[in-house]
Amino acid sequence: MSKPSFISSLAGQKCPKCRKGQVFSSPLYKLHRFWKMNETCSCCNLRFEVEPGFFFGAMYFTYAFNVAVFIVVGLLLYLAFEDPELWVYMSVIPAVIILLLPFAFRYSRLLFLYLFGGIKYDAAHKDRLS
Ligand SMILES: [Zn+2]
Repeated sequence: MSKPSFISSLAGQKCPKCRKGQVFSSPLYKLHRFWKMNETCSCCNLRFEVEPGFFFGAMYFTYAFNVAVFIVVGLLLYLAFEDPELWVYMSVIPAVIILLLPFAFRYSRLLFLYLFGGIKYDAAHKDRLS
């Protein structure tokens, strides 16, 4: 079996160690619980919160993502509607940021976990189920 890629594992919200188990306990579209993470991987038993408060650092990723959304949506409004009035920017940009919140939350945590969790892909991990 070939090694699952970093990008496909990240996009699929998979465990960084085994790249099989899910990090979050429900799909992204279930908005009433989009923030719920599994404590451990169902496949390799990796503890996702590698140390207490680990995911506070993911807020910097969320911040960067929201700044990017602010700039892109602001530019799109400026170009598409030829610089609309201030209230348009003040209502559309926060609405888009709120709509993208579940996506930003999850992928910020996943990116932080993949990049700063100190976890390497381990093809020979011991499956919890086997
Ligand atoms: Zn795992």
